[in-house]
Amino acid sequence: MQAKISENLAKVRAAISDAERRGGRDVGSTTLVAVSKTHPADIVRLAVEASQLLFGENRVQEAKAKAPELPSKLEWHLIGHLQKNKVRQALSLFEMIHGADSIELLQDLDRIAHEMGLFPKVLLQVNLAGESSKFGFTPVQLFKEIDAFLELDRVQIEGLMTLPPIARVPEDSRRFFVQLREMREKLARELGFPLRHLSMGMSGDYEVAVEEGATLVRIGTAIFGNREPRSG
Ligand SMILES: *Cc1c(COP(=O)(O)O)cnc(C)c1O
Repeated sequence: MQAKISENLAKVRAAISDAERRGGRDVGSTTLVAVSKTHPADIVRLAVEASQLLFGENRVQEAKAKAPELPSKLEWHLIGHLQKNKVRQALSLFEMIHGADSIELLQDLDRIAHEMGLFPKVLLQVNLAGESSKFGFTPVQLFKEIDAFLELDRVQIEGLMTLPPIARVPEDSRRFFVQLREMREKLARELGFPLRHLSMGMSGDYEVAVEEGATLVRIGTAIFGNREPRSG
């Protein structure tokens, strides 16, 4: 298992570098978020031994149970939907929240971050295809909320995140990644501050995402193998 995970990590890292070169980007400009959801701490530790220090989880409770079993030098990102009643716990656990998906949630994050003395980093989740099964701002909603975004004084909006429709082949995702990149530029202009991050690309399509400018890729299966179905 150790050999397998470190081998998978090496392959993913090499594929990211190759995609950076193809995309005309600096090698090393993409950060790998290893998605450890559903995998126990003992498995995550194998990735840590292969020098992976940043992990993504999509459930607050699961991360809260797992993190204390692992070295405190690790960094955790929340990649899934955040329920309002878990904001406080999420703020104390996660370095970045990838899926800020409503103005109400951002306002809660801002208020509670103030109480906790924090300046949390967040990415705005964009539902590019307007799928009803997905969380996130539609492109139209995103640009309507500019004033509300500007009123947040604790929350640091650092970029955009998306989860495109399930792709038949990786190329199918390309147009969504291009769209997210263009949207970041437009939104940064309207907000009047730079947005560093594009969180896009998963096991099936991360190479295309890196070619198109992803700064954060969220990869689970290609590192840890298939996940067991969750109960509940
Ligand atoms: C599970 C998950 C991933 C990782 O998916 P893989 O296909 O296993 O790489 C990435 N992003 C989000 C939001 C996820 O929930």
